[in-house]
Amino acid sequence: MDDSNNGRAKVALVKCEDYDNHRVQQAVERGLLLLGGLSSVVRPGERILLKPNLLAPDPPEKCVTTHPAIFRAVAETLQRAGVVVSFGDSPAVGSTARAARRAGLAAVANELGVSWAEFGQGEEVVFADGLQNKRFVIAKGVLESDGIISLPKLKTHGLTTMTGSIKNQFGCIPGLLKGEFHVKLPEVDQFTRMLVDLNLFLKPRLYVMDGIMAMEGNGPRGGKPLQMGAVLLSTDPVALDATVCRLVNLPPEDVPLLRNAQQMGLGTYLLENIDLLGDQLDALRRSDFHKPHKASISIRNPWLRNHIVPKPAINPHRCIRCGICIEGCPVQPAVVDWYQEDKTKPPVYDYSRCIRCYCCQEMCPEAAIDLQVPLLGKVLAPLLR
Ligand code: SF4
Ligand code: SF4
Repeated sequence: MDDSNNGRAKVALVKCEDYDNHRVQQAVERGLLLLGGLSSVVRPGERILLKPNLLAPDPPEKCVTTHPAIFRAVAETLQRAGVVVSFGDSPAVGSTARAARRAGLAAVANELGVSWAEFGQGEEVVFADGLQNKRFVIAKGVLESDGIISLPKLKTHGLTTMTGSIKNQFGCIPGLLKGEFHVKLPEVDQFTRMLVDLNLFLKPRLYVMDGIMAMEGNGPRGGKPLQMGAVLLSTDPVALDATVCRLVNLPPEDVPLLRNAQQMGLGTYLLENIDLLGDQLDALRRSDFHKPHKASISIRNPWLRNHIVPKPAINPHRCIRCGICIEGCPVQPAVVDWYQEDKTKPPVYDYSRCIRCYCCQEMCPEAAIDLQVPLLGKVLAPLLR
């Protein structure tokens, strides 16, 4: 795909009001045409891995996962071009098979003959150019493919503010290994620079974002669905995610992931360097989009951290005492745990050890964990970046 327009990035923004298979197919095809066609992205006979967002075993209407209509449209388009298509992800909660079944992707894959890539096992790779991280364990199914097409979902995220094209590749790291990065790289800048290294290594060929129904608020699992009515396509994940930010009135330069991604050469978030093709951004903008709390700083001093950085807090009325937050905490022993092993009450936090990775909030199936901004954090919010 031709993105060599004097170093400028192209983002196709295509209006699509719902998940009708035919309309989604048309939107994807229009987006591909706007970018210059599929033929420069893939060649017949290549093995291309589709990487949807399968965060957890949730149904499509919860807007946690990439919608099956997007998956179907891209898979069918690739198959028509003679490409051998596989798919996979490593969910934060549960198995790939369960998440894919609940999300409706397994049925589409079985119908179309899209094979399941191996995401349970990984292989270590060395990325000598990595600035933050030079070694990754990558799912075998990713390494066995000739290339990746990423299918992110437009959602908020407690740690990275928004989850989109760049963050989506974190699922190429199998299972619990993902959690280790939170412990090893607890500061937002460290963690997001690692994500950029990962993307520079994997270099997906194309990103097709499901922004038809987005998730606002307490994402990436506990937020509310919101109609955005957009499919976005680009070969530049930074430009694509920056366009999403502009759609929800969030300055891209306020998002550490995008600042680091641009600095490290993954792409550009600068409006003057992006050719926005297709429909008008203003017509699709949702100024009422409920953005997450500003959680983009890390402070090592426990007292300051507790008084400035948003902290996860359990709503006892929504908590069903499932214990998933405890299992998901990457710190050992877990920062959130049953009080005196009493499973009849919600778990409790030891905030002095909490690294604010928000894995617990991300995994909670009941949206029972909110991120609360301490008073001092609210006062200092305008100064934090
Ligand atoms: S807070 Fe959420 S994840 Fe934790 S026990 Fe309650 S419902 Fe389960
Ligand atoms: S309690 Fe939650 S936010 Fe704190 S370290 Fe554990 S998973 Fe991360």
